[in-house]
Amino acid sequence: MKKFLSRNKFKIIGAALVIAIIFTIPFIFKSFEEEIALSSYDLKLNYNDEKNTLQGIESVKYVNNSENAFSSLYFHLYPNAFREGANTNVVSSNNYDKAFPNGASYGSIDVLSVKDENDEDLSFNIGGEDQNILEINLTNILYPEEEICFNIEFLTILPNANHRFGYGDNTINLGNFYPIACVYEDGKGFSTELYHSNGDPFYSDVANYSVSITCNNDLVVASSGTQTSKQKLEDQTTYSFEGNKIRDFCLVLSKKFDVCTKTVDNVTINYFGYQGDNDLEKYAEFASKCVETYNDLFGKYPYKTLNVVKANFVHGGMEYPNLVMISDDLDDEDFMYVIAHEIAHQWWYGVVGNNEYGHAWIDEGLTEYSTYLFFEKNKDYGLDYDTMISNALTNYKFFVKIYQQINGQIDTSMDRPLDKFNTEPEYVQLTYTKGVLLFDGIRESVGDKKFFKALKDLYEDYAYQNISPAELIASFCSSTGRNLENYIKGWINGEVVIA
Ligand SMILES: [Zn+2]
Repeated sequence: MKKFLSRNKFKIIGAALVIAIIFTIPFIFKSFEEEIALSSYDLKLNYNDEKNTLQGIESVKYVNNSENAFSSLYFHLYPNAFREGANTNVVSSNNYDKAFPNGASYGSIDVLSVKDENDEDLSFNIGGEDQNILEINLTNILYPEEEICFNIEFLTILPNANHRFGYGDNTINLGNFYPIACVYEDGKGFSTELYHSNGDPFYSDVANYSVSITCNNDLVVASSGTQTSKQKLEDQTTYSFEGNKIRDFCLVLSKKFDVCTKTVDNVTINYFGYQGDNDLEKYAEFASKCVETYNDLFGKYPYKTLNVVKANFVHGGMEYPNLVMISDDLDDEDFMYVIAHEIAHQWWYGVVGNNEYGHAWIDEGLTEYSTYLFFEKNKDYGLDYDTMISNALTNYKFFVKIYQQINGQIDTSMDRPLDKFNTEPEYVQLTYTKGVLLFDGIRESVGDKKFFKALKDLYEDYAYQNISPAELIASFCSSTGRNLENYIKGWINGEVVIA
């Protein structure tokens, strides 16, 4: 996600740092060459545009890639964070009116049934602090390397919200709308964190997706994966999509979409703007330039399609596999900046994943730094890399000073869960801005050749996995031939003072 505050235009507004902005853990290291069997999701969706509801049948093939046997499986029910009376906030108080311009509105997900392959009911519970976890009790123990198939029937209600999940005046955003398996970490168990207003509180494994959605004919659908068919039947259309080795699936629907398509390095880039926009070509071209640049810097984007989607969204932008949302309330300069940021997430979050809840600095630090690299490599857009770094430093130091004045002390550790950041500005400064300064510092220390080799190695060695801070550090040490462990740990644990 790109929560706004960071970046080269620092609007320093005294103590009340007004900001607007966006998360892993280790996994047993198996090279993908060994082809780990992946879980799969087959979603059949029906969107009701009058009621703003989504009916779904989700057929899951769950593969136990852990070293433990399971008697139950756990799935996130993120839409329940939007319930009336939920404990968690889906947006910080200073962004509430922007997210809910028509006042309070609520959403939810109801699990109607869970059935096994023989259509027999499986028992389940809705638990977690906020009805945010679906626990499915298995009839038989699921041992390592075994798989099980079952069907979840659900009904999702969307809130009237300019959020990743919700409908606004222009778009219907279906982010994190279906039950998705909690990541299991050997030694730690299932990762069942609550939704949080800071950042992108998500964490998932890659899987294969087959998704179809039926909706009114006047809606155009942008989605993760690649569209495989479109069938019209009277006043309804069914769109079908396939997406392999992706860690989530998002759709955005709109009556207003107009699309401009480009192809770069065999990737189809679709920019979804609104009808009447005169800048479709410009943003499609810009998105293509982003993919081309990151392909050169980090390694090839491995999917067929990338959809860049203008949408009603409270924060600057939001990343999903093969689809990024860009907020329709941004000015042109910010709009382009956010496109560059969200597309970089396809490499850092999409292909190389991490626990965005536990270690947001990994994907946000790498992504924000990659955005700086984009402008360094594409000087025509008028942003100077050295000036951006200098501004980031000024901004960060100002934040530390103000925070110390207010609180008497400051914790500058980056590696902490989303719920351990006291404020949104604190989260943004310590994950994005300090993340940029960390990676710039490593680059300064090891030189360009080793630094860019390290980024390429990280991308290749950890593709389709989730990395932990320790794995990131080990990868950088190995690629550069330098012992960077104390250096990086000093930064992420808040021991280094940036003067
Ligand atoms: Zn981001």
